[in-house]
Amino acid sequence: MDWTLKNLGFFLLSLTLGSTASKENIAGDCFYDLSEIVGFPQTTCKPDPNYSYSTDPDYLNNFSELIVPLVFWGINQDDGSNDDFLTESKVRESVDLLNSAFADMKICFKLQELKYVNDSEIYWTDYYKFNKYIRENDYSKPAALNVYIPYRFTNNDNSLRGGKWSANQFAVNMLNYNTGILPHEVGHILGLLHTHAGAKAVNCEQVIRDEEDPDYNARCSGDRVTDTNAIPSLYGKFHLIDTHCEYVGNLVDCKGTPYTISEQDVRNFMAYTQHFCRSVFTVGQGIRVREFIKNKRALKKLEFVSNK
Ligand SMILES: [Zn+2]
Repeated sequence: MDWTLKNLGFFLLSLTLGSTASKENIAGDCFYDLSEIVGFPQTTCKPDPNYSYSTDPDYLNNFSELIVPLVFWGINQDDGSNDDFLTESKVRESVDLLNSAFADMKICFKLQELKYVNDSEIYWTDYYKFNKYIRENDYSKPAALNVYIPYRFTNNDNSLRGGKWSANQFAVNMLNYNTGILPHEVGHILGLLHTHAGAKAVNCEQVIRDEEDPDYNARCSGDRVTDTNAIPSLYGKFHLIDTHCEYVGNLVDCKGTPYTISEQDVRNFMAYTQHFCRSVFTVGQGIRVREFIKNKRALKKLEFVSNK
């Protein structure tokens, strides 16, 4: 059963991801419905003064170590059974993956608790029904980052991998407890946008990286990180990514300028890209995360992040 379902899942996923452009925004990857602020109303770019937009590794390296306590929630059927049980060793793999992905940001994840909910209602169900159920039953620890791992979500023909719905709660399905979607969702939790944010907006992120150029807007558009290039969502365009995660296309941005997309961009955790390519956060993203935490802590959010 497990084998069949997994393969069916991959089959449906490839169908979904290979379909029309209108599906790109919802296909497969994650539900991230805090609206991604895409453009900027001013004609001139006015960067958010709460961020430095630095891409200096020495600056990133100067942040002190932070600890994020994690509570994992395995979701079983009523009788406690599961076709793909969330074991403690699998959770260790998840924590190891997060620690390796966020190491350069000096963020350390510590497993605080592994809990189980035995309820067939949410074992394999709709994503919105799932997070409503979790909220209504108060299955969360307030001072931790809560990670829920149900068997599957039914959305997008069972291909939805996961999503975040609050500052300290997100879910991925059991196929992705140790894949790039896990750092992707934590990236959202810690303030990162998709690297293709607003790629179709009027004020899309421009390809130009010369800060003196009047068209330069990387601080105000896209993901607001300057060392991730302007990039479109590559869902539905996997033929433009080769087996080494190199971009081989000739797409243009909203102004008609050909994209300059590096392997690092294709490999970015926050890109809509080939799932197996996801393996990189940039220094600029790391600094964005650390400054996001710093900014939000003043507002008494992200209480689950603590100093060492
Ligand atoms: Zn996402």
